[in-house]
This record gives sequence, structure tokens and C-alpha cells, in this order.
Amino acid sequence: MKIAVCVKQVPDSWAEKKMGADGLLDRASVDSVLNDLDEYAVEEALKLVEAHSPTNEAGEGSGHTITLICMGPEKATEAVRKALSMGADDAIVITDPALAGSDALATSLVLAKAIKDGGFDLVICGTESTDARMSVIPAMLAERLGFAQLTFAGSLKLEGSNISIARQTEFGIEQMSAPMPAVISVVEKINEPRYPSFKGIMAAKKKTITTKSLADLGIDSQSAWSKVNDSALRPPRGAGVKIVDEGEAGKKLVEFLRERKLV
Ligand SMILES: Cc1cc2nc3c(=O)[nH]c(=O)nc-3n(C[C@H](O)[C@H](O)[C@H](O)COP(=O)(O)OP(=O)(O)OC[C@H]3O[C@@H](n4cnc5c(N)ncnc54)[C@H](O)[C@@H]3O)c2cc1C
Repeated sequence: MKIAVCVKQVPDSWAEKKMGADGLLDRASVDSVLNDLDEYAVEEALKLVEAHSPTNEAGEGSGHTITLICMGPEKATEAVRKALSMGADDAIVITDPALAGSDALATSLVLAKAIKDGGFDLVICGTESTDARMSVIPAMLAERLGFAQLTFAGSLKLEGSNISIARQTEFGIEQMSAPMPAVISVVEKINEPRYPSFKGIMAAKKKTITTKSLADLGIDSQSAWSKVNDSALRPPRGAGVKIVDEGEAGKKLVEFLRERKLV
């Protein structure tokens, strides 16, 4: 089984983010890290390989491979190394100046082409990136690839060539299954990502990261379909209204809610 795990480099979740004059997120002035939520995708791929290897050990001889797919600037390889040190086998990084400021449509097109060329059976993504938080790439990948789409997986099981998930929704849990090939996105509750071991960190230094340009993927040029024209910081929160109960608090509360068309 060939598993692709999509991993993205994002600005550190705790860093204060700013928009540049070009309408893009200023990524240069903040530290970059592996998207936290993608660590769960890497962990789940490792667990799948471990559970389905004759020796019950990840990697060698199992016939299963885990390839990381990342689109981003050249320095995105730093985030990819972290995922390699967790135990993935190799990585493909798609980097090209024409990709700066890509939107979700452009990103999914490029990732889908790399995945299609690689002939993968299973694609695992995080639920969302911590910078753009669109949570649409997995669905777009499934559509572009013509793969089954199993998103928001809180647990995952592989039986033969069939994948089953428990899909976490705001209403409850849905049991879903589909034959491979499939695209899966996983939620945080699915597992506890492992820390890279010293051995893993050393091994990652020797693992292959293949860098590809748009031309390598046979894509002419790829710019965003959409453009951010303007942006403004969210206004600070107001002081709020304090209602002291002197026998009329209920009425005042209803009035307050009615003014805001909340009741
Ligand atoms: C300021 C700003 C404005 C934006 N405006 C727009 C806009 O107007 N229109 C628009 O369509 N998009 C816009 N974007 C979204 C931006 O282009 C996204 O970063 C990109 O489209 C990917 O979407 P996402 O990161 O939200 O992915 P999500 O769908 O949240 O990510 C889900 C999963 O997909 C995978 N994934 C996502 N991106 C990558 C990647 N590059 N490489 C590998 N795996 C990946 C990861 O596994 C991730 O966990 C904007 C972003 C910013 C920061």
C-alpha cells in the first residue's frame, strides 16, 4: 500500500500574524513549523503501516510506504524533516515562485497532480491548516482525484481494501466506509502523535526529499483564482453591558437580545 500524507508548513500557531501590503500573510517575519494537525495524519499513517506489517514494525519489508507531500516555499523542507523523523519514508516538496499566494483551488490542483503521478492508494490529511483554516483541501483533493472522501475521521480501520472511519460531526458520530483509493482527513482526537526519537531524527537526515517545480509536474503556470484586495484587523471587543438585577433584569435582558435581533 502506498500512502501519501499531505503536510503543510505554517507560521507558528502562537506567533502574532500580520498581513503584508501585498494582501498575503507575512510568513517571513515569524517562525515556521509543521502544521500541528498534520502530525496526527502522519501518526495515523505510521499506525496503519505498523498494524498491517507482518513483523508489526514500521517500514522495511512491509511493502507499505509513507510519502509526505508538501507544497510551499523552499524552507518548507524544514517542516517535512520533522515529519520524516517521526517515521515517514520520503517526501515530495512542490516549490515554485509562481505558487506564492496560492488559494485553495490552486493548492489542491498542484497537490492532486503530485499524488496522481505517485499512484497512491490512500491520502491522509490533517483537518485544517492552522494558518488559513479553510478545511477544504481534503475534499478538493478527493474530487480532483476521483477518490472516495472520508473526512473528519476520529478513528480509522483498514480491512482488505476497505477503509472505515468514525466521522466526528457536531451532531454525533457517523460510521462510514469506502474502498480505496480514498482521501481521509483526521481530527485531533484520533491519536497522540509520537515525538521523533533521536534515532528517527538521525535517520531523517538521510531520507530522500524530492523537490519538484510546476514544470516537473507538467503544470504550465498556476496562480491563485482569487485575490485578497483589502484586510483590516478585527476591532477590539467593546466593554460590554452589565445588567444589575433590581427586579427588572429579565426584561432588560430580553430587550438587550431583541435590539441585537437575537430573539
Ligand atoms: C491571508 C490569507 C488569505 C487567503 N485568501 C484566500 C482566498 O481568498 N481564497 C482561497 O481560496 N484561499 C485563500 N487562502 C487560503 C490559502 O491559500 C490556503 O493556505 C491554501 O489554499 C490551503 O488551504 P488551507 O491551508 O486552508 O488548507 P486546509 O483545507 O485547512 O488544510 C487541510 C489539510 O490539507 C493539507 N494541506 C493544505 N495545504 C497544504 C499544502 N500547501 N501542502 C501540503 N498539504 C496541505 C494538510 O494536510 C492540511 O491539514 C488565504 C490564506 C491566507 C493566509
